[in-house]
Order: sequence, then C-alpha cells, then structure tokens
Amino acid sequence: YGAGFFVDITDLKQSRKEATKLAEELSTFLYMASHDLKGPLASVIGLTNIARNDIEDPKALEYLNLIQECTLKLDRSLINFLKIIRIKDNTVNHVPIDLNLLIDDILSSLKHQACFANTEFQINNSLKSEFCSDEDLIRSMIQNLVENSVKYQSRLRKPLVKIELREDALNILITVDDNGRGIDEKIKDKIFNIFYRGDISSNGSGLGLYIVKNAIEKLGGSVCAESKKEGGAFFTLTIPKKR
Ligand code: ADP
Repeated sequence: YGAGFFVDITDLKQSRKEATKLAEELSTFLYMASHDLKGPLASVIGLTNIARNDIEDPKALEYLNLIQECTLKLDRSLINFLKIIRIKDNTVNHVPIDLNLLIDDILSSLKHQACFANTEFQINNSLKSEFCSDEDLIRSMIQNLVENSVKYQSRLRKPLVKIELREDALNILITVDDNGRGIDEKIKDKIFNIFYRGDISSNGSGLGLYIVKNAIEKLGGSVCAESKKEGGAFFTLTIPKKR
C-alpha cells in the first residue's frame, strides 16, 4: 500500500460557501448604499447650483464652490461604485459594436472636462472583422483610459493621445497611447489596485483602472500598462475574439 492523504474538504466547502454569501451581501449593501445616497446627493448638487446663482457674497460663494467640488467628487465615486458592482454582477451581453462611433461618442461626452480642449486625438482603426463584445464594458474601459491619458498629461509637451484599434488571429487590441507624464516603474504593479492613486495631483477616486481590470477580466482578456522612454504611457486592452 502506498501512503495516502485524506483531506476533509467539508470545512473547506463550508468556508467557501460562507465567503460567497459574504461577498454577495457586501455587493448588495454597496449597491443599496450607493443607490440610496445618490438621490440626496443629487439634491445637494442641485441646491448648491441654485444657491450659486442667487448668492452674491464672495465669501459664501467661495464656500459654495468648495461644497460643489466635494459633492461632485462624491458623485463620481458613487457612479464608479455602482459601475463596479454592475460589472461584477451582470452577465456579459455580446452585440456588434462600431468602435469608431463609440470612440466619437466617448470623446464628445468628455470634451467639456478640463484639459480636453487642448488635447489632440488621433484614431487609427485597422480592424477588418466585425467587433462583437459587451458595449457597456468596452465603453467603461476606453472612457477610463482616455480620461487618464488627458488627466496625466505633461506640461512639457502639447498633449497628443493616439487610440489604435488592430487585431491578430485571436484578439482585438485597443491601445490608448499618450505623451504625458508616464508611469513610474515603482508604482506600475499597483495602479490597477482598488483605491490606488499614484499621483498627488490625482483628484480621482483611484477606481478607474480597477474598473478597467475588472471589465477586461470579465471579457476573458487582459490589460497591460507601459511607460515610454520618450515620455508618456500606453495601455493595451487585449480582447479575445468571440467565436
Ligand atoms: P485615479 O486616476 O482616480 O487616481 P486610476 O485607477 O484611474 O485612479 O489610476 C491609478 C493611478 O495610475 C493614477 O493615480 C496615476 O498615478 C496612474 N495613471 C493612470 N493612468 C495614467 C496615465 N495615462 N499616465 C500616467 N499615470 C497614469
């Protein structure tokens, strides 16, 4: 007789069950909390806007501007929380996507944001086959990457962002390439972590790249980030072709 190992997996199964239940409860809690906070927050944002139009006292206006900045930041965080929960919970819904149209739409929805006006965008699409994927996930990923490419621009260069779409036999590849500050080697393996902010000037919630990572994993693909010697960073999404 050879030596054998018997491992009682009843406990393991039980703790896995409990962990799944806890994760489900946490996700429901986060969803309800974010959802319930959104209503009152929208009222505060609306009332602050009205007050800013009515009030003339400069000191009061200064306070109102600060309140508005904080509430808008909170609103962005809540939107991102809800997005993360949706990515985790929803099933993937594949539909044909016109990426040129989608990118146009994303760029025009962002053009009112700071620094977009002075950024040049170049889009290079060499896709031959029809692209089928989940539109919400693709939109979230491209939007977050484009927002960052503009947010982390360098004062030394005129901001230029290149978006490239190409394919190989198995994958569709989407690259967002900027000539901004680049990513320090020391933080490269942390940038996709939840709540991680690597830049002191970041006024974001540190959720953008976490959303990208979760979305791409949901599609069975991968994302990689590289810094360029000449300055700037590029992110490549590799999305397996749907068969
Ligand atoms: P946030 O932008 O809210 O800080 P993200 O998750 O989107 O959070 O990004 C995490 C960090 O990765 C940023 O704080 C920044 O340090 C770095 N980063 C992301 N995109 C770029 C980029 N295009 N160029 C340089 N650094 C970047």
